[in-house]
Amino acid sequence: MSNDDRFDDAPISRRRFFQLSGATGAALALPGNATAATTSGKFTEEYEYVLNHTPADHAVPTLVQFDDADGPAAMEAAVGTEVITTTEPEPAAYGKLTSPQARAVADLPEASTFQFAPGSNPFWRIGYYPLGVFPEPRRSVDYIGFEQLKDGLEVLERRYPDRIRVKNVGRSPGHYNNATDREDPKGMYVAELTNFDSETDFEDKENVFFSCSLHGLEMASRETAARVLENVARSSEKDVIDDEEKIEPYLDDAVVIMGFTNPDGWVARNPQYDSSWQLNIDDVPFAPLHERGNAEVFDTNRQYPIVGYLRPSHFPAQPNDPKSSEEETPSFVHEKVPDAKALVDFFSTYENLNYGADLHGGPTFN
Ligand SMILES: [Zn+2]
Repeated sequence: MSNDDRFDDAPISRRRFFQLSGATGAALALPGNATAATTSGKFTEEYEYVLNHTPADHAVPTLVQFDDADGPAAMEAAVGTEVITTTEPEPAAYGKLTSPQARAVADLPEASTFQFAPGSNPFWRIGYYPLGVFPEPRRSVDYIGFEQLKDGLEVLERRYPDRIRVKNVGRSPGHYNNATDREDPKGMYVAELTNFDSETDFEDKENVFFSCSLHGLEMASRETAARVLENVARSSEKDVIDDEEKIEPYLDDAVVIMGFTNPDGWVARNPQYDSSWQLNIDDVPFAPLHERGNAEVFDTNRQYPIVGYLRPSHFPAQPNDPKSSEEETPSFVHEKVPDAKALVDFFSTYENLNYGADLHGGPTFN
């Protein structure tokens, strides 16, 4: 089954989709001080906060649901810019809206609910994946968002229970969430990709770990990992032709483990979180950036045991001796780098973790 076939089945406009994905990057949500005071009973609390903390010349990724099938077209007419519409599984539309545009759409009687919808797939908020759970980049409307990743991993695990299992192994320190007024630690997600039905026991397989985007602004590896998980798992489906099965047979003897190692640095770009202070850019007080470290401003790249320059301080779970007990873990580890410790603890349970790659990438400053 080719991707074109998948697209042809989708009841959304191909032309509009490509136009919008071509514009990606030009209209991203920016965090900042309150810039507007647009309210509506149709906005979720999160959406209203984000909308009112995004500068006027930027736009918010918005998913609007409608009570009526005519709603999406009415939204297009109301905003005068491109939107992606669908009637399945319900009338909805995705667009990047400014505050006045959101106001205009909220005035439509057909519009029912507005949600903040950052991510690569326009309709993940309503559980609709016509182009795949993680569409390929040219069919994506933005970078993959952390909340979208959580949603997508759950879908993949449900869809391919014999190939993908997802674990939340701990928590990040967490930014303060200004929209909900509370601390907001994020889960540490690890996805195991293997053939869980193969004759070789899980414990006896070779385990290969990929740490993805440990630096939050180096997004290439998390963008890749999510798509590799989906594409390899999908190649186990019966309608896949032989030459698309090149990787899948290796899953009889190997486990590929994708770890999403810095959720704090990933979500820092959303307006609910104070951002960029760790970058120390004086004239950009709230720059709209993913961040290198976690919310405690620790560069966790320095917190993992690694072959090479081993120092006692590089063992977050076992600071003085790799075989020392839990009690010897210094308090700063629990307070500042619980994300790194969670992963170290988790991987100490594996039998055959013999290979690993720490995937970084060029930083993206937008
Ligand atoms: Zn890096």
